[in-house]
Amino acid sequence: MEETNSQALLEIDLDIIAENYNFLKTLLDEKTRLAAVVKADSYGLGSKIIAKKLYGCGCRQFYVSYFNEAIQLEKMNDAEIYVLHGFAGTTPDEFLDTNIVPVLNSIEDIKTWQTIAGKMNKKLPAIIHIDTGMNRLGVDVKDIPDLVKMEIDKSFDIKYIMSHLACAEEKHNPKNKEQLEKFKFAVKALGIKAPLSFANSSGIFLGKDYHFNQVRPGAALYGINPEPDRYNPMKAVVSLKAKILQTRAVEKGETVGYGCSYVVQKPSKLATIAAGYADGFFRVLGEHGLVYFKGVKARIVGKVSMDAIVVNVTAVKPEPKVGDWAEIIGENQTVDDVASNANTIGYEVFTALGSRYKRVYKG
Ligand SMILES: *Cc1c(COP(=O)(O)O)cnc(C)c1O
Repeated sequence: MEETNSQALLEIDLDIIAENYNFLKTLLDEKTRLAAVVKADSYGLGSKIIAKKLYGCGCRQFYVSYFNEAIQLEKMNDAEIYVLHGFAGTTPDEFLDTNIVPVLNSIEDIKTWQTIAGKMNKKLPAIIHIDTGMNRLGVDVKDIPDLVKMEIDKSFDIKYIMSHLACAEEKHNPKNKEQLEKFKFAVKALGIKAPLSFANSSGIFLGKDYHFNQVRPGAALYGINPEPDRYNPMKAVVSLKAKILQTRAVEKGETVGYGCSYVVQKPSKLATIAAGYADGFFRVLGEHGLVYFKGVKARIVGKVSMDAIVVNVTAVKPEPKVGDWAEIIGENQTVDDVASNANTIGYEVFTALGSRYKRVYKG
């Protein structure tokens, strides 16, 4: 879809993504590589341009979910792109003679890739994913003995053995340590010397025990707080603002929006803003959402429409006019604040933003 909502502006600061990347690097030992997760179009923010920026910062390892997402990135010959969903949506042959490496999530995936390696009589690059508690993707730890028999180190150039944390953003959740121990146990049982990859953004902040040879942040690069119950160590990357389409004065007893769900309590001034649920402005924000005018809060009143919201600007001085900007994500309200008001996480806010906003990349 093309950008058609020119009344709203989504600004993505590439220099801050670079700053966030460099900051994460300071948390790592020399032996730990810093990969970047750019799946789902870099959480909706634009993987092509973001991967290029990160490449400029020295990043040479990228994760996507699908093969097609890897193809959409610009050619980076000395980089490696890892495909988390392996062969899903493509054929294994597509990976041959590219810098795109499949993550093998099951014994079946491993057999498939091993057969091809056998036919070609060479070692093929692969990441082996072991499930240590997510129960989403990866080889079960109980199947490690089968894996041992397959002698995969003879067929593959194993880039990493990886696993994924389920509760990393909860620092004190015992599941973290449990998964860490299970991962170490699985790697030992597998008996293969290969680099290890374990931590996502929040996992990095669990400490160096979790870093191994590679970490795989996505969210933190884009400014989402990796430690939700603490001060955000990352810098905000995204700002989103939308213009006032119309203003009006309303009397006590009037209602606003679909279903007449909001009843005006006293004479008020309302402003209609150019963002709605078709722009990823979640409908549930109709109950808890806010926008800001130069730092002054205005509450959403009535239901969120497809293309517009209405806010109460009675208290905003000077009186906002048509064409003024309302801040949706920015200095006064972080993506994590919006997410919390919508009872979700920053990840979903970003991926929902869609492509209708006018986008501007800084840096
Ligand atoms: C999405 C994903 C990541 C990145 O997670 P963040 O929380 O965004 O840092 C890392 N590893 C795997 C397997 C993932 O699916």
